[in-house]
Amino acid sequence: MIDPFGRTISYLRVSVTDRCDFRCVYCMAEDMTFLPKAELLTLEELERLCAAFIRLGVKKLRFTGGEPLVRKGVLGLIGCVGARLGQGLEELTLTTNGAQLARHAAALRAAGVKRINVSLDTLDERKFAEITRWGRLGQVLEGIEAARAAGLAVKINMVAMRGVNEDEISLMLAWCGGRGFDLCLIETMPMGEVAHRAETHLPLDGVQRRLSREWTLTRSGHATGGPARYWDVAETGSRIGFITPLSNHFCDDCNRVRLTCTGTLYMCLGQDDAADLRAPLRASADDAGLEAAIHAAIARKPKGHEFDITRQAVARHMSLTGG
Ligand code: SAM
Ligand code: SF4
Repeated sequence: MIDPFGRTISYLRVSVTDRCDFRCVYCMAEDMTFLPKAELLTLEELERLCAAFIRLGVKKLRFTGGEPLVRKGVLGLIGCVGARLGQGLEELTLTTNGAQLARHAAALRAAGVKRINVSLDTLDERKFAEITRWGRLGQVLEGIEAARAAGLAVKINMVAMRGVNEDEISLMLAWCGGRGFDLCLIETMPMGEVAHRAETHLPLDGVQRRLSREWTLTRSGHATGGPARYWDVAETGSRIGFITPLSNHFCDDCNRVRLTCTGTLYMCLGQDDAADLRAPLRASADDAGLEAAIHAAIARKPKGHEFDITRQAVARHMSLTGG
């Protein structure tokens, strides 16, 4: 799959549900309305879609959400897709808030998942409760420990927010380094209606300069196929990544598309254009029409997003496409 700008599309993110057991302030409103369950694709349909993408050249696949681990039966789906590792698919990963990890870490590893991203914005219990509204820090830390014990490599995702957790970034870097985890800082993105996001937006180029005064950071050749730019941290032997959609576009080498739990394919995180794959999926048991619809969607992939923190780029929340 090659898009109009010559970029090879080899990375699919699949949001298996828009629901979540947290209500992070930058991601959702507290009284979010979720999709009616009847609109969701079944797990078998999601598997068929994943298989079609892998046939067409997807090498890396990430399950996300909402919170992927709240979807009933999701481990079965992950296992079926994991069975395609080594047959076109090279890597299977997951992004999670960690709350259900203690229960599922060993099964994830058994399904072929080797690396996961866990979102953790603070190590302060009170602040964690404020940011996630419904989350408990202790439960997430237990989940992270279970992941480590199961042999999963963990990367911590931290949304950096002015006046909220910016004073904790160095502490988080030390905490991650001590456990052999990479840390990835993310700028808030203007997706979906939530209050006060613009006030807390923190451009990460300044953060990186400040961290360089405390830590020995050297540009790393490390690349995960995602949008982060990495630096090696000499003191800990681990890495810090920066995802900077606003202060520094990451679109030129974009290799990704995003599938929602209703079978809608978004070709860009920050644009509204989307392709319906549910209709061709359900129209026939043969995948020819589905594959043609995927090719037609890739042929419309836009050059990039036009995020501006002072205005909402797209009405949908990050929880629909999974970031
Ligand atoms: N529930 C899982 C989690 O929190 O890891 C997976 C889905 S969540 C939407 C994926 C990532 O997007 C998380 O790291 C989260 O912090 C981030 N995120 C959510 N809304 C965001 C926003 N508006 N701007 C930047 N990152 C956001
Ligand atoms: Fe849920 Fe993840 Fe959004 Fe937080 S960031 S509300 S955990 S989907």
